[in-house]
Amino acid sequence: MGSVSLHNVNKSFKAVDVIHDVALEIEDGEFCVLIGPSGSGKSTLLRIIAGLEEVSSGTVSINGKDVTELAPKQRDIAMVFQTYALYPQMTVAENMGFALKLAGMPKAEIAEKVRQTARMLELEPLLDRLPKALSGGQRQRVSMGRAIVRDPSVFLFDEPLSNLDAKLRVQVRGEIADLHKRLGTTSIYVTHDQVEAMTLGQKIVVLRDGRVEQAGPPLTLYNDPVNTFVASFLGTPS
Ligand code: ADP
Ligand code: MG
Repeated sequence: MGSVSLHNVNKSFKAVDVIHDVALEIEDGEFCVLIGPSGSGKSTLLRIIAGLEEVSSGTVSINGKDVTELAPKQRDIAMVFQTYALYPQMTVAENMGFALKLAGMPKAEIAEKVRQTARMLELEPLLDRLPKALSGGQRQRVSMGRAIVRDPSVFLFDEPLSNLDAKLRVQVRGEIADLHKRLGTTSIYVTHDQVEAMTLGQKIVVLRDGRVEQAGPPLTLYNDPVNTFVASFLGTPS
C-alpha cells in the first residue's frame, strides 16, 4: 500500500510562490519521476510529500489518509538524499539500524533486518566499516539500505545519483530499478536527467516554474508532448 495524492498544493517562501496548484495521483507500487530544470520546484515538492516543508495551501494524502498536518515520522515514507547524509561516526550497520533503534525495535531484530537488507544490496562485507571507508556508490547503497530497513509505503529519492561518476550512475540506477521490481514499493524520484527519467519512470511528471506541465507514461510524453518545453526535456536531445 502506498498511493500518494496531492490536491491544489501551493507553496511560497516569504512572498515568493514556488509551487502553484499542483495536483498529482501516484498509484500504489508506481515508480513516478519528477523532472524539470533547476529551480522548478522538484525538491520542494518532494519535501512537501515527506513533511519536511509545510504547504501554504492544499492537501497531501498517503494511502488515502490526509497527512498534510503530520510530521515526517508519522508519514510512512523514507527519503534517499543526493548527499547520502550518513552519520560519519557510525558504522554501516549502525547507520542502517539507527531509525529502527529510535523506534524502539529490539537489538536482535534490528541486527537481522540490517543483515537481510545488506545482503540484498551486497553490503554485507561492509557492515563494520565507517562511511569514510566507502566509495560513493557504496555510500549511496547504504543510504538506500537505511530507507529500505524501515519498510515504508513510499520511497522518496532526491537526485540520488548526482554525486556519482557516469559509470556508477548507470550501475546504481540499475540497482534502483531492480529494487523496485523486487519490492514493488511506490517510489517518487526527482531528477533533471532525461535518461534517468525515461529508464526508471512508469509515470513522468514534468515541472516548470512550480507547475505541472504534463504527467503521464514516458512514451506518451515522448510521442505526444503538450508543448516544446516538454519535448525539449524528453524528446530528441537538442
Ligand atoms: P529544484 O529542486 O527543482 O532545483 P527547488 O525545489 O529546490 O527546485 O526550488 C524551487 C524554488 O524555490 C527555487 O526558486 C528556490 O530558490 C526556492 N526555494 C527553495 N527552498 C527555499 C527556501 N527554503 N527558502 C526560499 N526559497 C526557496
Ligand atoms: Mg533539487
